[in-house]
Amino acid sequence: MGFLDIKQATKSYGSLRVLHETDISIEEGEFLVLVGPSGCGKSTLLNMIAGLEDITSGEIAIKGKSMNGVKPADRNIAMVFQSYALYPNMTVAGNISFGMEMHGIAKPEREKRIGQVADLLQISHLLDRKPGQLSGGQRQRVAMGRALVREPDVFLFDEPLSNLDAKLRVDMRTEIKKLHQKLGTTIVYVTHDQIEALTLSTRIAVMFGGYVQQLGTPKEIYDNPANMFVAGFMGSPS
Ligand code: ADP
Ligand code: MG
Repeated sequence: MGFLDIKQATKSYGSLRVLHETDISIEEGEFLVLVGPSGCGKSTLLNMIAGLEDITSGEIAIKGKSMNGVKPADRNIAMVFQSYALYPNMTVAGNISFGMEMHGIAKPEREKRIGQVADLLQISHLLDRKPGQLSGGQRQRVAMGRALVREPDVFLFDEPLSNLDAKLRVDMRTEIKKLHQKLGTTIVYVTHDQIEALTLSTRIAVMFGGYVQQLGTPKEIYDNPANMFVAGFMGSPS
């Protein structure tokens, strides 16, 4: 048993199966990257972990407890999306606080966590601003802060950097990696970018056509691709 277990999970829309029997066991503190071309089922799998999509068959469990039928709000999971939908009329502090308020966390504790996370993400000087007064990178930090203060068991990212320009993408990649090293949070991170997958992950699941083609460390995947698809997609010379 892992920390987060995906067991024989499938997803179908009507008669269309978009995720075939998938088994992934994720240890606490792992940084698992789901990588693959558009339409291969990455977001579907992530959304099933978050509870935003029902699972058609199989099971997803966290710390041994089945999440099947458990509402998103009752899973101790936080998610960061590509479109970091911040509330435009709330300040940065308000945005970060909101989810904690929903979960009944008292004000002194909220303020403590906001301070810690703002410090960590270097956004302390932005707490009184509105999202409209922030750059793309700053907004993405706020979105991450909002997820982090929840102190989730699992942190899910769906292509969080794909709206940023190339330079910022590299900077944020480094920041996310540092954050993971510092906090040891369990992360499942979706990207279609091979370099992002290779640099961020402790393990990678390469997906295509609703199947996990290979699951392994960056080195295993790069040095020893399981098939032609993985070799081609990950840009290995073999
Ligand atoms: P990725 O995130 O890897 O780009 P998705 O998980 O979003 O891929 O989608 C996987 C497949 O499922 C795609 O073929 C997509 O068209 C299909 N799909 C996603 N959502 C729905 C839906 N609500 N109804 C029907 N098909 C869907
Ligand atoms: Mg997607």
